[in-house]
Amino acid sequence: MEMQADDGIAIVGGGPAGLAAAEVLAEAGHPVTVYDRMASVGRKLLIAGRGGLNLTHSEPLPAFLARYHPTLSLAEAITAFPPDALRAWCADLGEPTFIGSSGRVFPRSFKASPLLRAWLGRLDATGVRIRTRHRLVGWEAGRLAFETPDGVRTIAPRAALLALGGASWPRLGSDGAWVPLLEGQGIPVSELRPANVGFAVAWSEVFRERFSGEPVKRIALTADGVTVRGEAVITRDGIEGGAVYALSRLLREAIRATGEARLVLDLRPDLPEVTLAKRLGAPRPGESMATRLRKAAGLSPVAAGLLREAARRTLPSAAPDLAALIKAAPLRLHRTQGLERAISTAGGVRSAALDKRFMLRDRPGTFLAGEMLDWEAPTGGYLLQGAFASGRAAAAGMIAWLGEAS
Ligand SMILES: Cc1cc2nc3c(=O)[nH]c(=O)nc-3n(C[C@H](O)[C@H](O)[C@H](O)COP(=O)(O)OP(=O)(O)OC[C@H]3O[C@@H](n4cnc5c(N)ncnc54)[C@H](O)[C@@H]3O)c2cc1C
Repeated sequence: MEMQADDGIAIVGGGPAGLAAAEVLAEAGHPVTVYDRMASVGRKLLIAGRGGLNLTHSEPLPAFLARYHPTLSLAEAITAFPPDALRAWCADLGEPTFIGSSGRVFPRSFKASPLLRAWLGRLDATGVRIRTRHRLVGWEAGRLAFETPDGVRTIAPRAALLALGGASWPRLGSDGAWVPLLEGQGIPVSELRPANVGFAVAWSEVFRERFSGEPVKRIALTADGVTVRGEAVITRDGIEGGAVYALSRLLREAIRATGEARLVLDLRPDLPEVTLAKRLGAPRPGESMATRLRKAAGLSPVAAGLLREAARRTLPSAAPDLAALIKAAPLRLHRTQGLERAISTAGGVRSAALDKRFMLRDRPGTFLAGEMLDWEAPTGGYLLQGAFASGRAAAAGMIAWLGEAS
């Protein structure tokens, strides 16, 4: 076993939260080393950029903060480093941002790779060292212990910041294996659960074969009294996509409490029910239901298929009943998809374990940040904003603590 005295700062986890913390600490003049278990850092950030890197959102701050659950969990951190500051930071790295039609914010290049490259260059120039293939496996006699290709290595930094991420998409590095490590130290962790995730639906064979992979566009979804407009995607075993993710916390918790959840689809949200009923009128002689749904109600084949699934295949023929079903087609969801397929993770280290500076109350000198903390938020840029802001806030907390300790 290799032991090293190290009076610098150790950041464990090279995702956006850890790298943001490293930047703040290095700029304040502290010697910083980032350790990551993978062969390179920022892998989840790179994947987040695959379909367009949605960095943050442009809505006013009070509405923005209200997206986080538990309510206002990251309010102070985000107020200190709000969306505009993240945009300015990005522009300063040579990647100016723009606001898309939905209010979401993207780098002009749309990609994560140029941003990460520029960021790593700047971190290197500020003296931040990066040690990859270092997996934190716990503490040994108060020292941080890592598994490395050369065996176990322990270090004793002046202070440490853990930003180990959640447990979704584990092949990118964050696998949640830290949970027993921290629980073993008496640190309370709320169970990791999938967030921004799809759900299982018992589709009929015909529907599954015909429509798997198809998007259902311009619909409204309601769960537990909350309605979201957007798009869903049919999968072989269920339903996913932006509008479903937006309701996924409510749906997941309903399934946890009762074993199933009810998702109500409005397949023509722009048409009032009476107008729809009038358009559907009386069926013309010889007109098939498929034609009536397509021509009179304007439903796409996949929307019509969904209507049949909701009606358990026998559709009502009276126009008012059909219109009512199009406006409120119920689906029963009986399982949340696994964490490995989720965009993000709910649960994590409970806020009661931390002080206002993001330092563990029972382990002075150890700070936490990012998705490993117990908060969740929808897609739309809130996740990355939360990771950046909490990383920077924890670094500021560490700087204050180091100032007091010296
Ligand atoms: C497909 C996909 C698309 C996404 N798109 C968006 C988007 O457009 N907008 C948005 O806001 N968010 C998006 N997200 C979410 C966002 O990427 C994450 O919320 C964010 O990366 C979390 O940052 P983090 O630094 O807390 O953790 P991570 O980025 O997960 O980083 C944690 C790091 O810790 C390392 N690590 C873990 N355990 C150990 C250990 N024991 N020892 C050493 N190192 C360890 C990991 O290797 C990893 O590098 C997306 C996520 C996915 C999966």
